[in-house]
Amino acid sequence: MKKRVVVIGAGASGMTAAIFAARAGAETTLLEHRDRPGKKLLSTGNGKCNLSNRRLDDRCYRSGDPGFPMEVIQGFPLKRTLDFFEGLGIVIRDRDGYLYPRSGQASSVAEVLRRGIRDSGVRMETNCHVRGVRTFGDAAAGHFAVLTDSGTFEGDAVILACGSKAAPATGSDGSGYDLAESLGHTIIKPLPALVQLRCRENFYRQIAGIRIEAEVSLWSGGERLADDQGELQLTDYGISGIPVFQVSRFAARALDEKKPVTARIDFFPGMPEKRVRDMLCERAARRPEGAMEEFFTGWLPDKLSRFFLKYAGIRGERPAASLSKREFRALERVIRAFETEIAAVNSFEHAQVCCGGVDVREVSPRTMESQKRRGLYLAGELLDVDGICGGYNLQFAWSSGAVAGMHAGV
Ligand SMILES: Cc1cc2nc3c(=O)[nH]c(=O)nc-3n(C[C@H](O)[C@H](O)[C@H](O)COP(=O)(O)OP(=O)(O)OC[C@H]3O[C@@H](n4cnc5c(N)ncnc54)[C@H](O)[C@@H]3O)c2cc1C
Repeated sequence: MKKRVVVIGAGASGMTAAIFAARAGAETTLLEHRDRPGKKLLSTGNGKCNLSNRRLDDRCYRSGDPGFPMEVIQGFPLKRTLDFFEGLGIVIRDRDGYLYPRSGQASSVAEVLRRGIRDSGVRMETNCHVRGVRTFGDAAAGHFAVLTDSGTFEGDAVILACGSKAAPATGSDGSGYDLAESLGHTIIKPLPALVQLRCRENFYRQIAGIRIEAEVSLWSGGERLADDQGELQLTDYGISGIPVFQVSRFAARALDEKKPVTARIDFFPGMPEKRVRDMLCERAARRPEGAMEEFFTGWLPDKLSRFFLKYAGIRGERPAASLSKREFRALERVIRAFETEIAAVNSFEHAQVCCGGVDVREVSPRTMESQKRRGLYLAGELLDVDGICGGYNLQFAWSSGAVAGMHAGV
């Protein structure tokens, strides 16, 4: 008799897991509570789906066990991932190491996975919410009954691939955590990550809409938590953009622990201190009678330079030559180490992923099998693994899904 595998959740990891379980010979059923599989995929990479990255290493992931994500990926590495997608019909486009489907459409990735599911004979059930998983026998037995609103599905193995709580409109409502917990797993509190930061100060309306290259470092009680450089976006409530997303999970965790969090922004990233100081002096020397409101023209957006002057207490009509050394130093501090207090991270609705999830120390990175219950496998963002922006979260979803499917299916 064929082994029966039930996969819960038809997102990136669940669809991959189902294809590999079926290819391994198992009678595979994929349960999804939304009306279509792969909804989240459609919004990935701004609709273009950044499906992986040529630069993959430990530094791209955060997890309770720092070695876990890459160990999983080694079980289904980039080369095999690309072969898998090419086999499904995707032609890969490499944009400086960031990998996309050449179609430029995330929908094509979702579509070929749906086709892969059909072609490998997976039974797909949509509008099928899983509300419980019952186990029979002791923890070593490996026999399951998956309870849904439309009936019970029995399996010799179950793959939990329900995602996190991020972007719940796409289906990942956090119910996977309850299922994992009911099966004996520990959940590390999930918090929004790759998300915007809300700031305490009320001046953000004045500078909303500005996009500028900057370095953002995050601080708590004198400790530098994280930093990143890229295009910063100023919004009416705080800060956004890739460098903010990359550090946001550290803000979420620290704020959740009731620690104060400050972001320090350097608007001239990578420039030595002396170079910026010399440039300020040169500008002042070149046009000593020029009004300060024109001082940064061509160097910084006008809206931002007006704000900086106000913030440093310097009136725009003053000639550059009238500024004291102390005033220049104050201005320099504002543009190089602008401090803003973080009040909160935006909610799960706005987050691309979650930090936290099922404790990976309870899962084998070689097979994705639970160490709590034989025959139970876990994959994807449900686990306590979060990658930085750049295709890393999807790569973890493909790899963990494939590894889980291959092992559950035999
Ligand atoms: C806006 C946005 C852009 C992103 N862009 C990128 C990107 O370009 N590159 C990248 O690497 N990552 C990106 N990510 C992150 C990436 O999409 C996720 O990490 C990845 O999709 C996680 O896959 P998953 O299979 O673990 O979970 P999901 O894709 O969330 O799938 C989980 C599935 O399980 C279903 N489900 C949940 N609970 C139940 C239940 N009880 N019963 C039945 N079904 C259930 C859900 O409906 C869902 O279909 C982005 C995320 C967002 C929100």
